[in-house]
Amino acid sequence: MTAPRRRRVAASALLVILAAVAIAPTASSAEPAACSGSRTPASFRACIAVAAQVYTRQWAPVLSARGGSVAVPTIDIFTGPPINPCVDATAGDVAVASFFCDKNRTVYVSAFASPYWTREYAREARRQGVLASDARRTGRTQARLLRGFANQGAATELAHELGHWVQEQAGIFGWYSRRAAGDGPRAGAYQSAAELSADCMAGWAQGRAAATGAWQNTPFVRWANHATIAELGGDLSELRPGFRFPREAVVIAHGGPWSRLQMYDKGFAFGVANADGLVACARAAASRTSTPLPPFLES
Ligand SMILES: [Zn+2]
Repeated sequence: MTAPRRRRVAASALLVILAAVAIAPTASSAEPAACSGSRTPASFRACIAVAAQVYTRQWAPVLSARGGSVAVPTIDIFTGPPINPCVDATAGDVAVASFFCDKNRTVYVSAFASPYWTREYAREARRQGVLASDARRTGRTQARLLRGFANQGAATELAHELGHWVQEQAGIFGWYSRRAAGDGPRAGAYQSAAELSADCMAGWAQGRAAATGAWQNTPFVRWANHATIAELGGDLSELRPGFRFPREAVVIAHGGPWSRLQMYDKGFAFGVANADGLVACARAAASRTSTPLPPFLES
């Protein structure tokens, strides 16, 4: 359900910026990392680079504990349809959103999606009468929230895509993809399981980073993370204060705001508790979608 909102985003000229991300542990800095509140091309690139470093660093011990090496992802920020081996970006609206490509182990981060849809979220919150309470909660003005939160929004989007990278590193990305690509009645459920697991893993990485002081953990950051996940769920028409939404009867595709936020919050709690984010999130998503757990994760 991510695509419909993003389809309204117009693609602009192609500009691909490659940034390899180091996963090696670095000396922990005293100051938690953060993304600048105001977006410029430079602050956006800096935000994505530091977010990728912090989130992959959280995942490194989880992946290492499963044995084998950890292959770092490449982060590719695009402002137009990126040439890549996974999706045909020239085919209409396919690649206006960020995505993970397992064929070249690259996370493609959209530079133009989050500036648009984070403003859209705030506008919808105003229409639904919840923007004032959101502003109180975050200590920001409504005018500030209406300008969007592109950098932190994109960092949260990146955290979801890195969830797919972790799935790939753990050997279960293909397991999900093969089942989701089938034409059986359960194919959609496997896609939902992979996506909701990635939402949970986004929460895990951000919860872990918050708990360890690796990332700034302010009410505004927490709000922006929730708002991003809600927006990615597509239908904000039932938005209520505190990110409350009606539960969907059936999970379709990526899931609606209720399912995505629930999985994100579970993941955040798993991260704070230092649970194994890969297994805990796969279990949570399997339970929500009534699909089996990927066999490699059974212990
Ligand atoms: Zn996804």
